[in-house]
Order: sequence, then C-alpha cells, then structure tokens
Amino acid sequence: MDKRQITVTSPLLPPLEEFIPYLQEIWDSKWITNNGSFHKRLEQALSEYLDVPYISLFTNGTLPLITALQALRITGEVITTPYSFVATTHALWWNGIKPVFVDVDPVTGNLDPDKIEAAITPKTTAIMPVHVYGNPCDTARIKEIADTYGLKVIYDAAHAFGVEVNGESVLKAGDMSTLSFHATKVYNTIEGGALVMHSAEAKQHIDYLKNFGFAGETKVVAPGINSKMDEVRAAYGLLNLKQVDTAIERRKHVAQMYRSELSKVPGIRCFEDIPSVRHNYAYFPIFVDEKEYGMTRDALYFKMQEKGVYGRRYFYPLISDFSTYRGLESARAENLPNARKLADSVICLPMFATLSDEEVGRVLESVVK
Ligand SMILES: *Cc1c(COP(=O)(O)O)cnc(C)c1O
Repeated sequence: MDKRQITVTSPLLPPLEEFIPYLQEIWDSKWITNNGSFHKRLEQALSEYLDVPYISLFTNGTLPLITALQALRITGEVITTPYSFVATTHALWWNGIKPVFVDVDPVTGNLDPDKIEAAITPKTTAIMPVHVYGNPCDTARIKEIADTYGLKVIYDAAHAFGVEVNGESVLKAGDMSTLSFHATKVYNTIEGGALVMHSAEAKQHIDYLKNFGFAGETKVVAPGINSKMDEVRAAYGLLNLKQVDTAIERRKHVAQMYRSELSKVPGIRCFEDIPSVRHNYAYFPIFVDEKEYGMTRDALYFKMQEKGVYGRRYFYPLISDFSTYRGLESARAENLPNARKLADSVICLPMFATLSDEEVGRVLESVVK
C-alpha cells in the first residue's frame, strides 16, 4: 500500500528565483512596511484582477472582519452562519457583538435567506454571510432583506477569491467583503488578507483604521489597529497573482476528475458547477450519506488516512458547538438542522494546484470501494 501522504492542501508558491530580485529591491530601498512600493503595486494589481475599485490589504483575513465591523459601527446582534471557519464568529465576539446563528441551505451550505427574517430583532444591525467553499450566496435576496430592515451586510469572502456571477465579482455585493490570503487559500501571501469596499471615502477610513487610526503625522481619528501588510509578503503576493489563473485551471481539472468518478458512487454527494458562476475550486467537499454509502463519515475519513489520504472535516464541528457559543439561544440543535447535517457528513478531499493525476487517482481509490 502506498503510504506517501497526500494532504488536503499545499500552498501555491512563487518561483524562488523570481522572488530573490524582489527581495533585493526591498533590501535596497530599506522600506519594509507601511504602504511601501510593493504594497501599492499589489493593491493596484488586485484591484484590477478582482475588478473592484477599492481594496485595502491586511496582514491576515481575520482583521478585515474585525475592522469592517468597527468601521461600519456594528453593534448589538449580527445574523451569521454556523457553517464556516471560526474566525467569522470570533470577529463578532471581539467587537462585543452577539452572533445570531441562522441555518444554511442544504444544497449550497450558505446562509438560507428564507430563515433570516425570523431571526431579526430590534438589536439586529447587520448580516454577516460567508460564501462557503466559494459558493456564491444569494446576494440579491440578502440585499433585499438588508434594505427592508436597514441592516448592513459584510460578506466573509475568504473562500471566494476570483469568484464571479454572470461576469461580476461577488466582492461587489454587500457594504464590504473580506478576503483571506492565508497559505491554505486559492491565492496566498503566506499570511494576508484584504477588505473590499465601495467608495474612496470608505477606503480612506479603512486605511486609517488599519494603521492605528493615523490620518497624518500627528492626527489620530479613530481607535485603530495595526493590520498592515509588509513589503515582503506584498512582493510574494505580486508573484503569486501571476500564476493564480493557471492554478485555478488545474484545480478545475482536479474537480472534474473527482466528479466524474464520484458521481457513480452511491451515497457520495459533491457540488456541481453552476453555469453562470466562475468557480475558483477552493475546496472539494464531499458529503457522505451513511446508509447509502454503507459507512459513517468518520469511518471513511479514517479509512482514507490508512491509505495516506488526509482529507479534512471542514466545517466540523459547527461554530455554534464551540464552548464560546454553545450557550446561545440560536445555537440550539433544532435551530440548525441543515448545518448540522452538512457538518456531520462532510470531508474535504485534497485540492491544490500541484496535485498530480496519479495522486487524484489515489484519493479516488480511497473513497471508491
Ligand atoms: C481562512 C478564513 C478566515 C480567516 O483568515 P485568516 O487569513 O486565516 O485570518 C476567515 N473566514 C473564513 C471563512 C476562512 O476560511
């Protein structure tokens, strides 16, 4: 049996020989952080690539969530999804905001718009959905609800780098959207992230907030934080941006290989591509129907590991099951049946640009009995 490990992800790395001259440039300039030349170049390049006029770079993907909530002065209660990475809800907690969990759509894994209204109270000020796995949320319905009730919308778009619907970036939806450029994401700057907003004024304010609130040498306009991206990561990010389209193409090929085999396996469900969407193939989740497949999710998960295939149970447990949140009224199991079902049946298969066809074959063998 082949024991070479196949991990769930592997970072997209720029060619080292192209990185070294950039490092030389940074060393020569001695300007290593604080809106340097690579920071400016990466902001501009991402603004063009993502087709969003206003974007601000951050040091990771959690601080833009925390900062967006500060900038929009969100308080009280915020409606969000339990089916995500913990950072989504932690950002609310760090702002003293009470998360209100609403169940997800069983097909897409995203916040179910039909269930949002029932969770709105006089204390609700915003909705914070996640485009989970890069699946676009129903942004039109969410906007309609937000407009009706006077709520802000902040999208956690950590998974949605480069995702478009009908040729439009999903980052255009809502008041603001956040991105993560963590090593495990489709596009990475090692650690990094960004906040997308829709006016020059909003960008200016965010740029102040991510630099302690400084609006000039002696002027501090808000209790800001430090979440600036440094020059080394910005330079690395500029190089990775050049190869991200090729990486997404390769991920698409892997997804197609997975789908064509797994569609024949009873009890294994995968997402299908939506024709109007440019997907980024950030993750490849499969959902195991215990009865039909003849094995529990966890049994399959460990069986795969015996064959050297290290999937991950993203997103299990639900955020609402962690100690910080499980006492909340909205965390009750009866409130979140669809999210629970996804969390209890999911395994994300290995998905990254340097995964070989042979490795894809080994992953498939570990799932197909
Ligand atoms: C990765 C991720 C984050 C956090 O990003 P970091 O860059 O790791 O801080 C936030 N939300 C979601 C949904 C994520 O997957």
